[in-house]
Amino acid sequence: MSAANPSSVLVDSHCHVDSFSPSDWVLVAARALAADVRGCLSAGVWWDELQKILMTHHSWIISRGSAKKHGFEALFAEKSGFLVFPSVGLHPMEVARRWRTQEGCFDEEKANSDIDNFFSVARQFKEFLWAIGETGYDASREVREGWLNKDELLRAQSLAFDACVTLSMELKLPVIVHSRSAWEITWKKLEQVKKFGVERLMIHCYGGPSADLKKLSSVGYLASFGGVMTWPDAKKMRESVRQCPSDIFLLETDSPDLSPVLADGRRPHRNEPAFLKDILQRTCELRGQSAEELIELNFSNLAGFFFGKD
Ligand SMILES: [Zn+2]
Repeated sequence: MSAANPSSVLVDSHCHVDSFSPSDWVLVAARALAADVRGCLSAGVWWDELQKILMTHHSWIISRGSAKKHGFEALFAEKSGFLVFPSVGLHPMEVARRWRTQEGCFDEEKANSDIDNFFSVARQFKEFLWAIGETGYDASREVREGWLNKDELLRAQSLAFDACVTLSMELKLPVIVHSRSAWEITWKKLEQVKKFGVERLMIHCYGGPSADLKKLSSVGYLASFGGVMTWPDAKKMRESVRQCPSDIFLLETDSPDLSPVLADGRRPHRNEPAFLKDILQRTCELRGQSAEELIELNFSNLAGFFFGKD
């Protein structure tokens, strides 16, 4: 970290702060700082978890108003310590778990009441919000389990997606998308939301075909990459890391999930923001770029995600 050049700050584009207890987080944040990781976007899973972290992790959380006043770069120069940028979402895996009747059908009544709560919590705490999401599609076997049919699951996830997009337009915030085993339907949705007017959006843990990264860049949406690129069998992911256009490239951990294989060959059971340094190292090798270049790229693309490009 350097106050003279704050755009050289390494920031984690996707982490789940609510998964760490407050006492644990003190140590996790200290280890992140020791690894020169200065902050993270805390991806939202459900509306009640935003209320929780605002109470339990308050001292790390940065309001959006303070950054608007001083600028994203100046924020890191002015504040010491680890900075957390929260979002609120309706995660597609949670949608699958919470909006399913005992018979395996879509519980529309529950969905509508959760969406009402989602809107009111987001409006109440909007000054702390930096993004809307996660939202998206997940049709993996693990998520489909317990559902009578895939179409109903996708209908539930579409309803959540639409709610997130509506809220993002109202609060003028960017959108975080999760897509697993559902790239085709995700891409169709991205084309729709682009027409609808969503300008700033990231696909976290990008798992689509590497050939589609150029299409993503043409609509100005970002692709974030994490620890999966270090896994021995993740050839497809490494190809995407190599081919991703620089203007849409982001780095993330998705802590506490998807921990990377570290340089010593160990794969920690729990991921944390400090391991972004290891992910960065692997990215340098794959893309043939220096750490400084990639840190700056990640920083300016994340700033563009939060505030738009000039
Ligand atoms: Zn996530």
